[in-house]
Amino acid sequence: MTRLPVFVTRPLLPDPGELEPLLAEIFDSRILTNRGPILQRFESATAAWLGVEHVSLVSNASLGLVLALRHLGITGEVITSPFSFVATSHAIRWAGAEPVFADIDERTLNLDPAAVEARITSRTQAILAVHCYGIPCDTVALEEIARRHGLRVIYDAAHAFGVRQSGKPLAAAGDLSVLSFHATKVFNTFEGGAIVSPDRETKLALDRLANFGIVDDVTVTATGINAKMTELSAAVGLTLLPKVAAAIASRDRVAARYWHALSGVRGLRCLCPPGQEGHNSYAFPVLVEPDYPLSRDELHHRLKAENIHARRYFHPLISDLPMYRTLESAAPQGLPVAQRAASRVLCLPLYHDLDPADQDRIIGLVSSPWA
Ligand SMILES: *Cc1c(COP(=O)(O)O)cnc(C)c1O
Repeated sequence: MTRLPVFVTRPLLPDPGELEPLLAEIFDSRILTNRGPILQRFESATAAWLGVEHVSLVSNASLGLVLALRHLGITGEVITSPFSFVATSHAIRWAGAEPVFADIDERTLNLDPAAVEARITSRTQAILAVHCYGIPCDTVALEEIARRHGLRVIYDAAHAFGVRQSGKPLAAAGDLSVLSFHATKVFNTFEGGAIVSPDRETKLALDRLANFGIVDDVTVTATGINAKMTELSAAVGLTLLPKVAAAIASRDRVAARYWHALSGVRGLRCLCPPGQEGHNSYAFPVLVEPDYPLSRDELHHRLKAENIHARRYFHPLISDLPMYRTLESAAPQGLPVAQRAASRVLCLPLYHDLDPADQDRIIGLVSSPWA
């Protein structure tokens, strides 16, 4: 019997019927973009949902990161994690600045504050940290280092929708935080993203930057770009927002099932223990250690042969890609923890409606790959 492929994720979608009233509104008003009425409702709803004050919706997180860096005037060195999706470093370059890679922490796979501090030079202007898999960075340590050295802190919170840290919304951390609403994330608007600002003035400046820097008919005050979210994406977001808490709860149940079945398997290290207050179960990464019967790539292929498409997030490291590997900070010997993680990590399929029978198959294969 051929089975349907199981991918690492599957997007959360509204019922088409639920979208209809908003589609009718768009077709009626003919307002398709440019901070239309649906976007404005969705922006307030997103801020309320996240528990923050000031949100700027944008067309995607990549441009959100570029705008965040541009707004803060960052053109020098930005210390960042090599263990991330390539957009993190690309955004630094598109903003006109230069990435400097620092190693990550063994337990969280997020930037190691001590490694960050060791990379600071007179040219360093900011830290762009990633909450990888939705696991919060050590924001206290990073922001303390930033304060001492006069640096800005921006968070790539693409994975961290809805995550809380010490009872507070993680999206409120740092000078600016950027969320992704891409199809593959916990919450999506097909494509989309948001920048969380500390005050209204910053939010309005970012809104302007996302609209070519236009203030009014005759006034353009910044070299902005087009990073606006459309009314269609906002309509999807407004319809999905009330469903995302239940989707995260379902993800938590799937992740807890993996944890109980796999965390005791010899040679596997599971990264995200269940029941962590405020976590969003964005991913279920496992580290395939040397005493597991297969290598990480062999396990990846073993699953693929069964039409199960786990993903090696994040391999290769950003610092090993051709446009970055000649940087001094990209030298593999300076990033031993990141190198090890990239060679061992595999993210298992995890989404709100993963079929329990499919999950049982995955668990069976991973826990006894030779059975
Ligand atoms: C998905 C992702 C991005 C990019 O988000 P887009 O909305 O697709 O531009 C940036 N950083 C990380 C860590 C991501 O996973």
